[in-house]
Amino acid sequence: MSVDDQHDTRFGDTPDVDAVVVGAGFSGLYMLHRLRELGLSVRVYEKADGVGGTWYWNRYPGARCDSESHIYCYSFDEGLLEEWEWTERYPEQPEILEYLQFAADHLDLRRDIEFETEVTAATFDDESGTWTVETADGQQVTTRFFISAVGCLSKPFLPDFDGLDEFEGEWYHTSRWPEGGVDFADKRVGVIGTGSTGIQTIPEVAERAGHLTVFQRTPNYAVPARNRPLEEDEYEEIRANYDDIWDRARNSRLGMPFDSEANSARRLSEEEIHEILDKRWQQGGFRFLHAFEPGHILSNEETNAIISEFIRSKIREKVDDPETAAKLVPTDHPYASKRPPMDYNDYYGTYNRDDVRLVDVEAAPITEFTADGIRTADGHYDLDIVVFATGFDAMTGAILAMDIEGRDGLSLEEKWSAGPRTYLGLGTHGFPNLFTITGPQSPSVLTNMPMSIEQHVEWITDCIEFMDREGYDLIEPTEEAEDQWVSQTNMLADQMLFSEADSWYRGENVPDKPSVFTPFPGGLEMYRGICETVAEKGYDGFELRGAADAATVEK
Ligand code: NAP
Repeated sequence: MSVDDQHDTRFGDTPDVDAVVVGAGFSGLYMLHRLRELGLSVRVYEKADGVGGTWYWNRYPGARCDSESHIYCYSFDEGLLEEWEWTERYPEQPEILEYLQFAADHLDLRRDIEFETEVTAATFDDESGTWTVETADGQQVTTRFFISAVGCLSKPFLPDFDGLDEFEGEWYHTSRWPEGGVDFADKRVGVIGTGSTGIQTIPEVAERAGHLTVFQRTPNYAVPARNRPLEEDEYEEIRANYDDIWDRARNSRLGMPFDSEANSARRLSEEEIHEILDKRWQQGGFRFLHAFEPGHILSNEETNAIISEFIRSKIREKVDDPETAAKLVPTDHPYASKRPPMDYNDYYGTYNRDDVRLVDVEAAPITEFTADGIRTADGHYDLDIVVFATGFDAMTGAILAMDIEGRDGLSLEEKWSAGPRTYLGLGTHGFPNLFTITGPQSPSVLTNMPMSIEQHVEWITDCIEFMDREGYDLIEPTEEAEDQWVSQTNMLADQMLFSEADSWYRGENVPDKPSVFTPFPGGLEMYRGICETVAEKGYDGFELRGAADAATVEK
């Protein structure tokens, strides 16, 4: 199908395009490619002036991906795999951005992307069965499919501190970093936040600044990443084994091809467990989380307690001052009940520097910004620059930033007011032909993202192909299937240790956000199987409506 030969809607209107995709990161780019292969006309809207999504925006010093580079890429295209070569075990932000630019050129994607164009609203019209998508610069385009590829961690969260307007220094959120960088030389810098981002950037900022003050509310369990250059022969071996690597990654819980030393630690002595942990500590990164089957670590309190204590002892070893060490040791939540961060550049050793100070803002919270810095409940800190490493309105923030209106004027914000409700994280009842790539209640952030993205994009592509083949115009999850999916997601999460941490997984980091566990915690392998069964059964749990007679078929 070409732009001139588009699919008529069931009432004969021709939408401007077959599909609108929002976002040109990993997911939007691949979605565009696959839909074009189907012969659909596609328009991608991207707020930034280039491709990259997360990797366009997060340019802060030390920004790097915690997934290993050889699996943090597309697996679907031989040419991309052959022509691209990562330089380090973990890819740095500029290299990932370059990779996505390379992929966009390789697949000739840019001609269908409108950059610097923000989608502000999308409204479904039941009469025509089409969406009308609006952009901030006043465009209106009608489309059959409206596909969100906005990412899970793309709407920055900035705490509402009193007095920020009065602060006379500079301040930056890590995910809105200026392209030219920030000059920290001789400056008194404050970093707020010690999540994955803070832990990556703090050692880098310490290197560059005159003095650094870290404002920490909750300490974290940072595991050494053990980054290093990838050697040529190592890379050749990866290339030679890619089929096996992808097969194992796709059929794993976390979308990573790593084996575990044992499924469970239940029958092992504490000494045997420590031996395994020591070995995996040396390997570093997510291989540590695979010491035992990750599902076991994430659900078994006893095993998790041993691992948590193991990491605590490592932190105490690294930090010279016992008082500072005590502040850095997490005791309020189990390991990996929040997203486990990686340490690339001696994070804990950074606190041994004379020019770095740790401030516990759980004990004495930040009360306000002043013209000269930050005041906490027990003192004032003079600062020239403040870095907010305070995270994101995750999982739903970027989707709900668009004013999405489904059937009968139902707004998505209203529908999700008590937390997201989806079927498979792919769609939501009341919003026909809306697809959400790595949407809430899909595995997404609990996995190596490109693996989950590819699975979603391929499922959506197959679904659209099926609809066209069988003569269906509209697809929408049934309310029953959605209710069942939400219950299943919550039930699985309740069996795991996630409820023991206040985390962005549960929306706890954003005031007034409903506290609901948002990713699907059953793992990619289980999830993939469920999605495949749904498709094999003719899209079980979805309602399909046909073109000719607008007949409703409940599956
Ligand atoms: P985050 O994990 O939500 O961490 C935000 C930090 O800011 C936390 O330490 C939080 O403290 C603190 N904070 C928030 N509001 C505060 C306030 N009012 N006062 C004091 N402290 C406050 O955000 P993130 O570090 O940006 O990471 C988000 C996610 O992005 C990660 O979990 C990961 O999935 C992804 N990410 C990935 C990579 C990678 O792969 N390389 C790198 C960076 C980020 P509390 O913990 O007490 O709330």
